[in-house]
Amino acid sequence: MNIIFLGPPGAGKGTLAQLLMKEKGIPQISTGDMLRQAMKAGTEMGLSAKRYIDAGELVPDEVVIGIVKDRLQAEDCKGGYILDGFPRTVKQAEALGQFARIDVALNIALDDEVIIRRLGGRRVCLKCGGTYHTSTLNGREDCPACGEKLVQRKDDAPETVKNRLSVYAAQTAPLIDYYQNLGLLKTVQCEPHATVDENYAKVQKTLGIA
Ligand code: AMP
Repeated sequence: MNIIFLGPPGAGKGTLAQLLMKEKGIPQISTGDMLRQAMKAGTEMGLSAKRYIDAGELVPDEVVIGIVKDRLQAEDCKGGYILDGFPRTVKQAEALGQFARIDVALNIALDDEVIIRRLGGRRVCLKCGGTYHTSTLNGREDCPACGEKLVQRKDDAPETVKNRLSVYAAQTAPLIDYYQNLGLLKTVQCEPHATVDENYAKVQKTLGIA
């Protein structure tokens, strides 16, 4: 199954996509993770993407389209894949349609206030990739999995989060209609206090794999 996870930043796409990846044995392809890796490795593409990411703006379409097109050629994508954070513009969706056959676009929906709270408290581990929320860390500042000091992503700072949400509304939300018109859209409405397991159960049900 070739799946797109749509939805605003902080809706939980990455976490839910990882659970689905484990269950179905298909790769999660996160353009955000790939861009951050390129930044960390100091590649030319990573360095040019950095200023967009740090400002909460979208990296130019040509760059991300190229990354995804290459990635989908890999052997591990033959049995299906989960696109997490791509496409984010209609231009990206149109390009994707030229080189991939999508089965379903899953819209992970969550209210803005919850997103702002969630991203404000998000802490990540740059060593093992773990993601946590301050509300569950009980004041702890190191990674519960590997002991590394946790950090806040630069683009999770309050002003940047506001910008990311308005970029989402202007450039990515139109994809909901786009995939609706193609008959590929399904929506999972996440409730503010639902656990990851509860939200994942909804994903399974909506995809018909429960
Ligand atoms: P994410 O981890 O998915 O929230 O992505 C973090 C940042 O990476 C975004 O705010 C964008 O700057 C950039 N990014 C990730 N995916 C895309 C995409 N499909 N198109 C453009 N920029 C992207």
